[in-house]
Amino acid sequence: MRIALQPIGDVPREVLEDLIEDLKGLGDASILDPIPLDPAWREPKGDQVRADPILDEIEPEGAHRVLGVTAADLHTGAYDFIFGLAKVQARPAVISLFRLGSTDPRVSRERVAKEAIHELGHTLGADNCPNRECVMSFSASVDAVDRKTAAFCGRCRPTIEFSAKRLRT
Ligand SMILES: [Zn+2]
Ligand SMILES: [Zn+2]
Repeated sequence: MRIALQPIGDVPREVLEDLIEDLKGLGDASILDPIPLDPAWREPKGDQVRADPILDEIEPEGAHRVLGVTAADLHTGAYDFIFGLAKVQARPAVISLFRLGSTDPRVSRERVAKEAIHELGHTLGADNCPNRECVMSFSASVDAVDRKTAAFCGRCRPTIEFSAKRLRT
């Protein structure tokens, strides 16, 4: 699978380069030219940005999937904030770095990788998973992100592998 990483606004190059490494289990990622954060996505009150219109805007540019990466604080209708958003079996996904930072850069990197794999997992047909260790378990806090692993559980893995195989043929 080919994954396009779409920086939205200012995103540290290092984060994107780490993602290329950390997404190798899913596919080959490459970095697109950054696009600006559209002011229309911002909430009129507060500093948050709506995630849904970003999914409508970003394009895989020839890759199978596109993962938007932004430093902005994202939210969507049902939640005050989200680490990322994707629709099941659709091409675009987006993650926010805003709440994933840690004083330990290794922890920050792991969190970003887990949420990136989680959202791309949705685009490959996996739903949120009840197994708390599975990367597809929904995380409402960074503690929950830290508790789960970066791996798909035995129930989610076949879904991911089936979809990934279909992309190759
Ligand atoms: Zn999810
Ligand atoms: Zn699972």
